[in-house]
Amino acid sequence: MLIDFHTHVGQVWNNHEELTPEGMLRWMDAHGIEKAVLLPLESPEGASFYILTRDALALAKAHPDRFIPFCCVDPRMAINGGKAGIKTVIQRYLDQGAKGFGEVKVALPIEDPRMQVLYEICDELRLCVLFHLDGIRCTDRAGLPGLERMLRTYPHVNFIGHANGWWASISADMTDDQMNAYPKTPVVPGGAADRLLTQYPNMYADLSAGSGHNAIARDLAHGRQFLERHREKLFFATDYLMPGQEVLQFDLFANLDLAKDTWDLISHRNAQRVLNL
Ligand SMILES: [Zn+2]
Repeated sequence: MLIDFHTHVGQVWNNHEELTPEGMLRWMDAHGIEKAVLLPLESPEGASFYILTRDALALAKAHPDRFIPFCCVDPRMAINGGKAGIKTVIQRYLDQGAKGFGEVKVALPIEDPRMQVLYEICDELRLCVLFHLDGIRCTDRAGLPGLERMLRTYPHVNFIGHANGWWASISADMTDDQMNAYPKTPVVPGGAADRLLTQYPNMYADLSAGSGHNAIARDLAHGRQFLERHREKLFFATDYLMPGQEVLQFDLFANLDLAKDTWDLISHRNAQRVLNL
């Protein structure tokens, strides 16, 4: 059983073909992926074209055994009624089947007051929040002090880390200028990502994209221990979003040959538990 916790059906970037629902299902079948989380992108800094919540919800309705829809709202949208208005929109998405909030890929600091309105609503609704942290989106400093304050302030939100800034923070020598980097040096133990996963029950991470792959592959000995240590907090994920995309996660996990209970958790059981599937 394999659940992919991070995918985008549609056209994310202008320089590739559209990933159709049929293309997505064919790719899932070819790789033994039973279910995939469909993440909308509804912020101008997130993609070349918007990937809409309503499309993710409709696709999941058509293929309930294959697609798990998330919802998102950009906090800068012209929604009437302030926080209560935004909550009404999110509640409507939940009523239509949304299982989580994200991908949050907004060019604001991760602890911007406008972002905190979203976290506050997700805290009340017990919704997880999947965020893209790099030098442009959901920004923070090395050591991730802003994210840590959010983990403390919104204890009922399961925050799911993703992208370069989050994953470069696996190493304690991470600096502010590595927020968009794929560092290749051996990991210095005690990085912020490692520490937050240990200290906060509401910190999770998805292993998708070049950044998630690199965090493990840059130092396989450390990566293996990291996967074991946080086996209840990590999700298998790819960030598949275009036809023919090279996905490095398949070979990585085949070669790692993790203990069966560790792989069971990362491949699907954590997703089932956190999303109440
Ligand atoms: Zn993504």
